[in-house]
Amino acid sequence: MNAFKVSVVVPGFNEEENIPHLIRILTGVLNRYQDYEIIFVDDGSHDNSHSVLEKIHQTDSKVQYILLSRNFGHQNALKAGLDHATGDCVISMDADMQHPPELIPELVEKWQEGYDIVYTRRAADPSLPVFKRRTSSLFYRWMNFFAEVEIEEGTADFRLLNKTALHAFQKFSENDLFIRGLIKWIGFRQYCITYDPHQRMAGKSKYSFRKMFSLALKGITSFSIKPLRFSVVIGFVISGLAFLYGIYILYVYLFTGETVSGWTSVIISILLIGGLQLIILGVIGEYLGKLFLQAKNRPSYIVRKNTFTHSG
Ligand code: UDP
Ligand code: MG
Repeated sequence: MNAFKVSVVVPGFNEEENIPHLIRILTGVLNRYQDYEIIFVDDGSHDNSHSVLEKIHQTDSKVQYILLSRNFGHQNALKAGLDHATGDCVISMDADMQHPPELIPELVEKWQEGYDIVYTRRAADPSLPVFKRRTSSLFYRWMNFFAEVEIEEGTADFRLLNKTALHAFQKFSENDLFIRGLIKWIGFRQYCITYDPHQRMAGKSKYSFRKMFSLALKGITSFSIKPLRFSVVIGFVISGLAFLYGIYILYVYLFTGETVSGWTSVIISILLIGGLQLIILGVIGEYLGKLFLQAKNRPSYIVRKNTFTHSG
């Protein structure tokens, strides 16, 4: 038997159908370790997740749960779980069986070999809806263009952290969390495992287009101020063009006298520049909003109930 403790953290939003199955499979996999804990974070579900979890917790004290006071979103729920983990290594995964629990021994093995962080990457999934595949690959392309950390396509929040990496992560008080980026950013010895995609077991995806879009924006604006610089560059280019056009108009006015024609181009430039200003204002607003939220220093999540007896 190996003398270490493995923590598994699973955030879930309305996953009552998946919980019993997931926990059964997880328990089967984790039994080989001397000590383990499963921490399920109920991210303000509207279904019966709570009572399902309570029932399981009653019969198996290795299954703990944290109930958040409302839906705080996947990233914050995951942070809640990571903050409570007590193992020598902690594995985070989704509740819908898309992250195969069978891979856990492999993650642990790599950790035992000396890696601090073992993350996973999903191989391309031909059965995923075209829209999701496209938006996902577009996201990583943009993200890597703008951001200072490189994030490989297909990496999600299915990974193992050792204690040192976990402590480093827990020190962050950023409140617009993009965990994938932060983990890449903190460094350490990282190892990547590629796995084949799995179908979501029950229920439907909790990442609506809105949530996906907001995650993408978060990913980009949390790791880079390039968009701000980019808007300055576009501003300069457009103003430069407008200046050249001005000279041209002056030339037409002075040397040909045809000044009334050109209404179309006036409207087009007004629209172009107006739109541009809105985009640039939007970019600035996005960062300002981040500063505003950070300045208030609100917690990333609020716990309504947890089953831990220790403080933490
Ligand atoms: N999730 C969550 N809070 C949310 C949205 C999602 O805790 O507000 C959980 C969800 O229950 C699942 C994981 O995050 O365990 C990944 O979500 P999902 O499977 O819906 O995303 P997809 O795999 O479709 O990208
Ligand atoms: Mg999923």
